[in-house]
Amino acid sequence: MMKNLIDKLYDERTLPREEMRTLLENYTPEDREYLFALARRRQLQYYGNKVFTRGLIEISNYCKNDCIYCGIRRSNRNVQRYHLNKEDILECCKAGYEWGFRTFVMQGGEDGKYTDDYMCDIISAIKSQYPDCAVTLSLGERSRESYQRMFDAGADRYLLRHETATESHYSRLHPEDQLLSTRIKCLYDLKDIGYQVGTGFMVGSPYQTTDNLLNDLEFIQKLQPEMIGIGPFISHKDTPFKDCANGTVGMTLFLMGILRLMNPKALIPATTALGTIQDGGRELGVLAGANVVMPNLSPVDVRKKYMLYDNKLCTGDEAAESCAVLKARMERIGYQVVSERGDHVDK
Ligand code: SAM
Repeated sequence: MMKNLIDKLYDERTLPREEMRTLLENYTPEDREYLFALARRRQLQYYGNKVFTRGLIEISNYCKNDCIYCGIRRSNRNVQRYHLNKEDILECCKAGYEWGFRTFVMQGGEDGKYTDDYMCDIISAIKSQYPDCAVTLSLGERSRESYQRMFDAGADRYLLRHETATESHYSRLHPEDQLLSTRIKCLYDLKDIGYQVGTGFMVGSPYQTTDNLLNDLEFIQKLQPEMIGIGPFISHKDTPFKDCANGTVGMTLFLMGILRLMNPKALIPATTALGTIQDGGRELGVLAGANVVMPNLSPVDVRKKYMLYDNKLCTGDEAAESCAVLKARMERIGYQVVSERGDHVDK
């Protein structure tokens, strides 16, 4: 029944809002499989059966923000805070390079320790030691000037999820001083400067409605990001959302398939959150259209402290040490984990 809509989405890369609503609210298991088959076809068209890896370095869990859903929010007094220094980060890159990573992602809370000067110094050091690698940043909202300086120092990509494109929903997930308009301005600044930009949202975040999701899809279509990261919301015991239901694997995968058809050339990760709520979740992500995985390169002693949500995978095969396991898992489903920068095809 939905097959016609999925075919239309495949051909036209978009659907009118009401047709998209119908699809999101009424799809059957057969529709889902059909969507995933078409999503894989699109993924093969531009990137073949390659899965790109990104070495994730969680540089700090200090954060000046207080996002209601996030385990490392400022108000959470139960977090043991840490930040990595330049040497720690370069150690992670060294190990990562040997394991085959050609992209390093530095992600963290909004931590005042990482001034522009300090970040530029770290970025230039990585780029001079590993000129064949890409540097991705995910450090939240900063000034345009700051983004520009880090770009000039050699940063290639920036990940900043918009979280939800609906203002009233954004204000239920964040305190009053955090505004959707600021996030959006940051995303356009990043694009304008020349970064490959990633955005995205949590699936099943508290109070999320179908209309919110439709707004998210429309926002992504307008922004045209090079990367799109979505993952299920997972509650954290020390946040006000501790009793809220988690997002589902099913809806996350379905939206990933839709996003692949809307954005055939995008780099779409099968996120850690997906692997956390279901064993094998990241393989399912790849089979629904994802083509990136982001194993953890952070030093082992800090991994448990970067706990964005309960039970976040932080040992075992999400970690970079187990690249061989990840490779085998992907090969089993017909995909090849490659040691490449994995830039967007148009960049
Ligand atoms: N501070 C940077 C920022 O805001 O972009 C990067 C770090 S932030 C912790 C990275 C992402 O974690 C957020 O964009 C958010 O979507 C995700 N996240 C935070 N809490 C989560 C939760 N409870 N469940 C799922 N994802 C969560």
